[in-house]
Amino acid sequence: MIVALAFLLSITILFLDITFSLPEKFSDYPLYLQFIPSLLKYLSLGTLAAAGFLVVIVFTLLFGRVYCSTACPLGVLQDIISFISKKIKKRKYVYKKPLTKTRYSILIVTILVFLSGSVITFNLLDPYSNFGRILSNIFQPIVVGINNTIAFFLESFNLYWIYPVEFRGIEIFSLLFSIGVFGIVGWMSYKHGRLYCNTICPVGTFLGFISKFSLFKIGITESNCISCGVCERVCKANCIDTDNSSIDFERCIACFNCFTSCSTEAIEYQFRYLPQKKDGPIVNISKRDFVIKSAVYFVGASAVLKAQKKIEVYKENEIPVIREYAVSPPGSVSINNFTDNCTACHLCVAACPTHVLQPSFLEYGLLGIMQPRMDYIKGFCNYDCVICSQVCPSGAILPIKQESKKLIQLGIAKFEKDNCIVYTQKTDCGACAEHCPTKAVRMVLDPEVNKNAPKIDEEICVGCGACEYACPTIPYKAIYVKSNPSHLTAKLPVQEELEQPDLEEDFPF
Ligand code: SF4
Ligand code: SF4
Repeated sequence: MIVALAFLLSITILFLDITFSLPEKFSDYPLYLQFIPSLLKYLSLGTLAAAGFLVVIVFTLLFGRVYCSTACPLGVLQDIISFISKKIKKRKYVYKKPLTKTRYSILIVTILVFLSGSVITFNLLDPYSNFGRILSNIFQPIVVGINNTIAFFLESFNLYWIYPVEFRGIEIFSLLFSIGVFGIVGWMSYKHGRLYCNTICPVGTFLGFISKFSLFKIGITESNCISCGVCERVCKANCIDTDNSSIDFERCIACFNCFTSCSTEAIEYQFRYLPQKKDGPIVNISKRDFVIKSAVYFVGASAVLKAQKKIEVYKENEIPVIREYAVSPPGSVSINNFTDNCTACHLCVAACPTHVLQPSFLEYGLLGIMQPRMDYIKGFCNYDCVICSQVCPSGAILPIKQESKKLIQLGIAKFEKDNCIVYTQKTDCGACAEHCPTKAVRMVLDPEVNKNAPKIDEEICVGCGACEYACPTIPYKAIYVKSNPSHLTAKLPVQEELEQPDLEEDFPF
């Protein structure tokens, strides 16, 4: 139970860390063992450093579905709901026949869809990703609201222990989906314990299948059993049949409730084959420095917002911005690589300090629903930030170094002259050029209006979206990032030599 709570709490804190103050390496271990993200990461990287799913399989081959009772956060969440239900309703479990056809059908469809090249079924059914979306879409906004209310309250007493954080908004589809999943899983666990894990969850079914071959198996020692039925009544997987003195080990999620409840010690692990011990590899993945990154963001984003406020826009423009493809995050290599590997757990969305990563709706097509995209209306991609590449557990966003990130071209800025207030209002602006970190956007005199207007050097543009975010035009932006379906490499911006003041001539003292 302690291990299960440790996993649950560490993953929860990871998703609800609204102030980005977690220490480095905090998330390595709980995420390393998440089955589907780890499998996808292994398939895309091919290194043992991404092979947490193999550790899970090894443990399952030894002891059965211990992943389901300890490392799976959605499983532990269900246990908490079942615990509450037992306290309120004094609910007792009984043996239920397995829904074998249903669960294997779901597993087979999941595998077939994956083999056909889509991760949509993983995306919709993976327990870790569903848990992540529940936290990120339902609970994170609540935590931000509570934090900001407390900060506001304390501020009126001149206390500044807590500071308000920016609300990243809500993507309605992801929110409704997460509420739906939370409702279904919550109802199932409230009424029937681990029914979700033994009917719908493809990871549970797969590990259940593997546990058929495990070396140790929980069983009833008939000589000790007095058929009191206590173990059956505490089994949240409904898999103990005391009438027949049998345990359906495929459905057993190794919660050990039966062990502790049996007064005659009739339940124990029994050897099936010759035992062997294996230790799972423990791997370090480099991690983020939240404090520095969030400080960088708060300074940068507030400067952009202030710049937008300075410029008064009173004329609406008319040319809609139509983006052929969504912009995928730095480190994702290409839209295809991203959509093939992302399980839409939304950890990157929760961890992104600028909130530029937002769940998509249909921007990647139906099969990429809820996978994160760069939303340059909500934020921009900080030039120095690589957090999403460090937290992504599935390999959809590969780890990248800060220096190499600065040359990844996610897309290219495009200028829509007829939307720009320099032309529509004949007003000075330049917010885009001011915030472009590479100076790919510069203001150049246009004799047509006798004002400086933006000019883009596409070769050094990295597609970070700072220009789009800063552009104050309404309702459409005059500058926007057109996605590169495969990320390209931008040229290094030429560093301008700063003019050296002639110290000897002008020194005032
Ligand atoms: S890209 Fe984001 S949402 Fe997708 S698996 Fe990685 S962290 Fe989760
Ligand atoms: S494109 Fe640049 S200059 Fe034109 S309105 Fe937007 S920020 Fe201002």
